[in-house]
Amino acid sequence: MDSILIIEDEKDIVEAIEYNLKKEGFKIYKAYDGKSGLKQARDKNPSLILLDLMLPGMDGLEVCKSLKREKALATIPVIMLTAKSSELDKVLGLEIGADDYITKPFSMRELMARIKRVLRRWEDREKKTPGLHFPNLEIDIEKHEVRVGGKLVSLTAKEFSLLCYLAENKGRAITRERLLDTVWGVEVAIESRTVDVHIKTLREKLKKAGKYIYTLRGVGYKFRE
Ligand code: CA
Repeated sequence: MDSILIIEDEKDIVEAIEYNLKKEGFKIYKAYDGKSGLKQARDKNPSLILLDLMLPGMDGLEVCKSLKREKALATIPVIMLTAKSSELDKVLGLEIGADDYITKPFSMRELMARIKRVLRRWEDREKKTPGLHFPNLEIDIEKHEVRVGGKLVSLTAKEFSLLCYLAENKGRAITRERLLDTVWGVEVAIESRTVDVHIKTLREKLKKAGKYIYTLRGVGYKFRE
């Protein structure tokens, strides 16, 4: 059974989400502030985390960054709950590694669809080969690690997802829109140059292995050996 940790200080929202998720068969854990949320994430190892942005004390951004820094927690998908689209911009701009975002007020139906989609994406990835190996480039999906020439490279969650998606679809042309949809997974308008910016940083971090990511002018990108 999938379990979901809700980190949100507004008790009414927690209750509403809990009620609806339980009906769908999820096991629920709750935390009303960031610190205890992190603790629960470590203790319970949930399948997914719903994380409110505005929390007392440690806010959602800090919680998300901490989650993504801890190896054992980094692979747990996170859906951020934000109150306004201006907050959403902040989340997107800061590149904190959340897997999806939903703006309040949201319908339970919409939230459920997001949760299922994120979980499905995660399961699909785990079903595929746990590792992708190329000369000078090793991607360990389970450990969330990338090595270039044997040396560990530190990537953000988004950069890691981008690289995995491209490498898993080796030889295929992938449009920016496809990458936005798969890696960012949000329906809000993000400019497609966001993809270019991330690819640029990713290439720089990958150094000599950056050449695997080939630009298809006016289309998108392709991973090629
Ligand atoms: Ca809040």
